[in-house]
Amino acid sequence: MSIAENVMNILKELPPGVRLLAATKSRSVEEILEAINAGVDLIGENYVQEALKKYEKIGKKVEWHFIGHLQKNKVKKALQIFDFIETVDNVELAKEIDKRAKNMDKIVFVMIEINSAKEPQKAGVMPEDAIDLADEIYSFEHLQLIGVMTMGPVVDKPEDIRPYFRKTKEIFDELRYIYGDEQIRYLSMGMTQTWRIAVEEGANIVRIGTGIFGPRKY
Ligand SMILES: *Cc1c(COP(=O)(O)O)cnc(C)c1O
Repeated sequence: MSIAENVMNILKELPPGVRLLAATKSRSVEEILEAINAGVDLIGENYVQEALKKYEKIGKKVEWHFIGHLQKNKVKKALQIFDFIETVDNVELAKEIDKRAKNMDKIVFVMIEINSAKEPQKAGVMPEDAIDLADEIYSFEHLQLIGVMTMGPVVDKPEDIRPYFRKTKEIFDELRYIYGDEQIRYLSMGMTQTWRIAVEEGANIVRIGTGIFGPRKY
């Protein structure tokens, strides 16, 4: 199936209120534009340099979310493109984003990445530390906390990821209770293999790459 058909099929199946984020790492501008023409209005990129090149051609007609691992020395460049960063997992990074946002006189919308399976080598804050991190983020004037995101572990069967999505949803609910659901809006979880389970567990952003564009070449 074509990129456009994949997008339209996913959009048809998503319940109202759930947004499709096209995960576009390694995809060409042409491929991304095909997805946009079929209805994608939100894209996620993992690498700042790669995103900058694409941004020159695609521009502001879609919302750009940063979904990769953000190094502190890339924050300034990242903020030229991204108003949304889904992967904040430590206070030093939050502080750096706040500082750069202040210099640019803008507000950056951030989400906390949760290491929902507590995997030692993986990005994301431990679930038990998420509320404290939210508290610290809240104190930064140029950051606005708007939700949480998780990758979850690599699993054999999609169903096996459910407990980690459920755990992340609990943190989302707790943050909503503390900060209000006007402010805490997004629960970003689920990828090509697991997005249906994520939706069942309350996700309202699903991040899909392969399911739109086919297998990645690198
Ligand atoms: C690549 C990527 C996705 C999409 O993965 P697919 O399995 O290709 O759908 C989602 N989220 C993040 C953070 C990614 O890096």
